[in-house]
Amino acid sequence: MSAQSIQEIHSKRFGTQGVVYQAPGRVNLIGEHTDTSEGYVMPAALDLRTISVLSPRSDTTANIYSVNFDEQVTLDLQHLPSRRRSHWSDYPTSVLWTLAQREIHPAGFDLTLSGDVPLGSGLSSSASVEVAVAVAVLAHAGITLTKPAIAKVCQFSENNFVGAQSGIMDPFTSCCGVENHALLIDCRSLDYEALPLASEVLLVICNSMVKHSLAGGGEYNARRAEVQAGVRILQQHYPDIHTLRDVTEEQLRRCENEMPEEIFRRCLHVVTENARVLQAAEALRSGDFLGFGRIMHQAHVSMRDNYAASCMETDLLVELAARQPGCFGARITGGGFGGCTINLVAADHADNFVRDVRSGYKDATGIQAEIYLSRASNGAGPLPQVS
Ligand code: ADP
Ligand code: MG
Repeated sequence: MSAQSIQEIHSKRFGTQGVVYQAPGRVNLIGEHTDTSEGYVMPAALDLRTISVLSPRSDTTANIYSVNFDEQVTLDLQHLPSRRRSHWSDYPTSVLWTLAQREIHPAGFDLTLSGDVPLGSGLSSSASVEVAVAVAVLAHAGITLTKPAIAKVCQFSENNFVGAQSGIMDPFTSCCGVENHALLIDCRSLDYEALPLASEVLLVICNSMVKHSLAGGGEYNARRAEVQAGVRILQQHYPDIHTLRDVTEEQLRRCENEMPEEIFRRCLHVVTENARVLQAAEALRSGDFLGFGRIMHQAHVSMRDNYAASCMETDLLVELAARQPGCFGARITGGGFGGCTINLVAADHADNFVRDVRSGYKDATGIQAEIYLSRASNGAGPLPQVS
């Protein structure tokens, strides 16, 4: 839906035109399960986004309407809920809750939200909603925060009000994305660098449509526990290390015999993945997409064999992609156990890529994959007014 039609929906509902903002979803190109070890990640902001339209009110009421859910909630800004309701409104409410804790008290407003980031598919519609709310409400309150500071507000909101243990990568990318660039982010210092993605290269995201969530939820936490167990063993030899970010592959291999094989493999994934992100950054700096794609493939193999967080469906999508002309690289992206793959594809091959991967996947699994094409986009901000 265009920004103009969302603005029209807002005007019709609330009787005023409102200021329009946008905040993108994101995809991680490489660097999986490294953020929780304060390592490196390399996401890009998508041209799938949440649009927010805000107009001020003269009281202390916040009306928030989601076009996606066709539902409106009304909050009293002087008595915000202190707990989640397990409802979409938790995400916008969480941001207001965090701002209130930081003594930012906006006056009343009417807000319309509408997004084309697929919900719950690992492309971070949640962060895009939070950031779209945060930029609109902060501007309304007359407060200027840096983009990384806005990202931290949103991460805090999702962690402490919504109750999801998400990392900084999602809101950070939604805030700081750069058109036609990937972001190399150091999750310890939050230093980041925008690295060029040629405009002839498309981000193609294939949604396997499976989420092995029953097994996945527990497995996800089990992986984190295994990594922490590995760190404790390593710390007996290297007391200065805090996380796997501080460990070299050589140090890890020296301790291999002291840990169960599974723990060693989980740690090996994280340690080598950090190194791969830095190599991949080097490949982008020199415009070497083939080299970048080879590293993506190694990352997929490590996610599959060492971290054991892939599954038959995402392996198949990667295998199908690797056979397509014009595909530089493919890997599972996101937490794992299903979800999406990210593929870097030459723009002039994208149509054939989509057709062949979709039909190959349907033939083998009976499942109709959803496939999204995107370029890397700018982070959140105001959109030009349309009248
Ligand atoms: P992901 O971030 O991978 O898309 P999450 O489960 O973290 O998945 O977040 C999805 C949730 O975010 C939705 O179920 C909904 O509650 C909320 N959300 C996302 N987009 C919108 C929207 N446009 N309007 C209202 N709520 C939204
Ligand atoms: Mg999310």
